Parts: sequence; C-alpha cells; structure tokens
Amino acid sequence: MSAPTAGGAGPADDDQTSYDGSTCYDALTALVVVDLQHDFGDPGGALYVRGGEDVLGVVDAEISAAQAAGAPVFYTQDWHPERTPHFARDGGIWPVHCVRDTPGAALLPGLRVVGGVVRKGVDGGDGYSGFSVREPVSGATTETVLGALLDAAQVERVVVVGLAGDWCVKETALDAVRRGLRTTVPLAATRFVELAPGDGLAAVEAMRAAGVEVTGEIVTPGPPA
Ligand SMILES: [Zn+2]
Repeated sequence: MSAPTAGGAGPADDDQTSYDGSTCYDALTALVVVDLQHDFGDPGGALYVRGGEDVLGVVDAEISAAQAAGAPVFYTQDWHPERTPHFARDGGIWPVHCVRDTPGAALLPGLRVVGGVVRKGVDGGDGYSGFSVREPVSGATTETVLGALLDAAQVERVVVVGLAGDWCVKETALDAVRRGLRTTVPLAATRFVELAPGDGLAAVEAMRAAGVEVTGEIVTPGPPA
C-alpha cells in the first residue's frame, strides 16, 4: 500500500526509508521468497552468498506479516539437472549448485514454508527469475507456473526477498514489473553475490530504473571468518 507509517519522524528521503520489518501486506499482495537454499544460504554451500543465512530472521518476519494480512506466500527453488550449460563445467559461469534431489538444493532448515514452491532451471535452463527460465544456448524463454499462481490469487503487488539480490531476486523483481505487478524489494531481506564489485549497487539501480520500489540499504556482510 502506501509508504510505511511506522513511528519516528525520520527524513522523508526515499533512499533512507527505514526498514522495520513492517512491509505492508494485504490479500492482493504476495510475498515471493527466492532461493533460500543450502547452496546459497549455508556457509558450506556450493555457491554461498556471503551473509545469506542472516536474512532468515527478516524473511520469517515478512512471512508472519504476510500471513497475518492474508497475503499468499510463494517460494522459488533452483532445481538443476546434474549437467546443464548453467554450470561452468558445461560452458556456463557457475559452480555446480542446487542439483535436484541433493542436499545442496534443499530449502534452508530455518525457513518456514507456508505456501507453494516453484522450481526453476528444471530443464537445464538458466533459472534466474522465478517467473521465467532461459535456455542457455538458444536464449528462448519459457514461463514457470509462478505467474499463473499469482494470477489465480488475483495478486497485484509482490514483495520479493531472498537470494541473491544481484541475480535471482533482481530478475524476479524485473519480471514482476514486466507483468504489471507493483513490486517491492526490501534490501534487509537479501544479500548480493558481487561476482564483480559494484554488482549489488548496479542491481539496485536497475531495479529502481524499472520501477521496483527498493527499500532500505544494501547490507554488506563483514569479512569472511
Ligand atoms: Zn542456478
């Protein structure tokens, strides 16, 4: 709905919007929880996003807020075959991760699952967006079921959280805007891969330019232990 009205007369600068876990939900808003899986969110994961596990508490608060408002919650899950051009060994850019039916692809044990899980990358495609999958060689895109699920729930707005902010969260948010959904990304509920330094900021700028409401500040995890 409109801007948060939580107490405290902070500056009205959009970039300074304080994130207090009170993202607005209603029955026409869906929470989309992106790829909170072992390989991304566990320090021992194959494609660990630094600080990834730290978003669980914030995401849990979002799930509670969504549930309290009667807002549907959906989850995406990267779910690759063993061989796919998505992986570096087969011509892509990523280490092997989230191979279906392996522990690496499992949702994080601390994540409450209260809604449907949409798997992506199933056929070997680059499943960055929760809405669509791109065939790595031909570039052809196909839709996942997420869009139809949101349509069936008559959703008009989405809040996108999870991992990683410069890849799957960004692509999911951009696809949501393309579908005509009002889209919010609270930065407290994501972390960034930063394959190249500055990717996080560039992702935020790209989302804002496309019309995504990005709230809060990029959280930079401390140096690796
Ligand atoms: Zn993947």
